[in-house]
Amino acid sequence: MTPLAQQRCLHHATREAVARCPECAQFFCRECITEHDERIICASCLKKIAQAAAKPARRRVNLWPVVQVAAGLVVALLVFHTIGRVLLTMPDSFHDGTMWTHLVGGSDE
Ligand SMILES: [Zn+2]
Ligand SMILES: [Zn+2]
Repeated sequence: MTPLAQQRCLHHATREAVARCPECAQFFCRECITEHDERIICASCLKKIAQAAAKPARRRVNLWPVVQVAAGLVVALLVFHTIGRVLLTMPDSFHDGTMWTHLVGGSDE
């Protein structure tokens, strides 16, 4: 087994390696290695892990149809609400149906 002191950093040929990345099994200097989840890992492996971890949450879901449906529901709700308000302000004769008999049923001669 090669002593760690004789190893050089993968990125810095002049620097002595201080640790070995458990992911890619490469030697790295103090600057190129970071601690992640209580283990020493190189920067490129950390990036890979971060990307892999971020992937499920970043799954692109096309929300546009959902937004459109939601917007449609809101519009429908507003329209019905407005209609309800208009109906409430209408005269009682309209609700009684007398208005309609007057308009439609008036044609019985
Ligand atoms: Zn690595
Ligand atoms: Zn380095």
